Amino acid sequence: MAKITKLDDIVSLCKRRGFIFQSSEIYGGLASCYDYGPLGAELKRNVRNAWWKSTVQMRDDVVGLDCSILMHPLVWKASGHADKFADIIAECKKCNTRSRVDHLKNHTEEHAAHVPVETAMADAKNLSKKVCPACGTIGQFTDPMPFRLMFETKMGANADDSMTLFLRPETAQGIFANFRNVLDSTRVKIPFGIAQIGKSFRNEVTTKAFIFRTREFEQAELEFFCEPGTDDEWFARWKEIRFNWYIGLGIKKENLRMREHSKDELAHYAKGCVDVEYKFPFGSGDWQELEGIANRTDFDLRQHQRGIRTLNDWFEKNGDLSKISLKEEAEDWLKGPLSYFDEEKKRRFVPYVIEPSAGIDRSTLAFLVDAYDEDEANGEIRNVLRFHPALAPIKAAIFPLVKKDGMPEIAMKIYDDLKKYFTCFYDEKGAVGRRYRRQDEAGTPYCITVDGQTKEDDTVTVRQRDSMKQERIAVGQLKNYLREKLDV
Ligand code: ATP
Repeated sequence: MAKITKLDDIVSLCKRRGFIFQSSEIYGGLASCYDYGPLGAELKRNVRNAWWKSTVQMRDDVVGLDCSILMHPLVWKASGHADKFADIIAECKKCNTRSRVDHLKNHTEEHAAHVPVETAMADAKNLSKKVCPACGTIGQFTDPMPFRLMFETKMGANADDSMTLFLRPETAQGIFANFRNVLDSTRVKIPFGIAQIGKSFRNEVTTKAFIFRTREFEQAELEFFCEPGTDDEWFARWKEIRFNWYIGLGIKKENLRMREHSKDELAHYAKGCVDVEYKFPFGSGDWQELEGIANRTDFDLRQHQRGIRTLNDWFEKNGDLSKISLKEEAEDWLKGPLSYFDEEKKRRFVPYVIEPSAGIDRSTLAFLVDAYDEDEANGEIRNVLRFHPALAPIKAAIFPLVKKDGMPEIAMKIYDDLKKYFTCFYDEKGAVGRRYRRQDEAGTPYCITVDGQTKEDDTVTVRQRDSMKQERIAVGQLKNYLREKLDV
């Protein structure tokens, strides 16, 4: 039976094999920031590509976008982030540890999101029964206070004319801000989606569990625009599509679930929201959010329409966001640039938005945890990452059985041919059994070995990672064999 994975096993494998390192490790490390090593960079790239392939490439109704991280400050005023994107924190009077109030729960399941400030403030009344996660003291907290999650930076060379900008805390706003550009430059018609993958930044109060919650992370977000009235149907469809994406890439069904948000958890503008949750092996085997899928109604596009109307005030107030309140909608707001005219129905409306918002790092962690396994091979414990072939960092490793009799030359030629199509690895060092183990630990689905027979009949052995079965394949067939098996 497969062993229950502990996060420590994953962290040490990741470091040992070059998947993930602590950022700035040689300087003692930078908390909650991580670097992806050679295998990790490939794995993460494959996760990104798998999302892009299923969300953009394979669909006729979604286009992609790649926006800058820095945006006009009014974007964050209009989106609500400048005023409301904060966690409510309280400090333990005993040990001075600051915690997110919504995380101070006396139960094992943790599923709190960044809730609106008002909701979190209301939740924070009952701190008398909460336990400090650092020292265990009960009910000894300071008054709750908001803690802004957006990182600030300055643009401009001189102190007096530089402008305060934010590192984006989500990629979605770049999509809304380009809604009109995409409509005007493509032939998309509603219903359609705009997708983006990119870095986001949040000054999280508490970070934890390796790459699960970090201050710099990558998101994969889709804003799917549809006609009001069709939103419930699209919401249901995207829930199904996104759940099945994880299952299709090998996540075990028993480790994945969908959790519907209760009414009081919902943001005021959201009509519905679910989290796709994975049973991560930390805490006490907690279900934790992998992805949020929300019906955001027409809130975002309307807000940006109000934001655009406010632009002149922003200049007059020298860009001081705190002095600006968004202009109320004029009666004819439907004529605004972020509305949509349906040519067939001759009707203008502001589209509703369904938003599946996933984390590339979090799903990479889930894929790593889910793939991790230990079994026995020739009486020895074998560590193996059973990645779906589409995610495996290396698709095939090529070995000469021994470093003589012309085998390395043949193996190198096979490697040179195959690397044009797949990420491959050549290895001639040490006993072949050990080379297999190293590839099992990296999650490589196929190992190809050139041996004495290769010279006679032009065949090689192909060994499968999971079953460890070997078969002989003609060298000329290798490319097609791998194409078919890897489905890439
Ligand atoms: P959480 O409750 O975990 O803070 P959230 O509900 O605030 O998350 P969203 O704003 O819905 O998260 O972001 C969408 C996705 O982006 C999340 O499901 C997650 O996969 C990813 N994500 C958000 N914050 C982080 C973070 N600090 N580190 C890594 N991934 C993150």
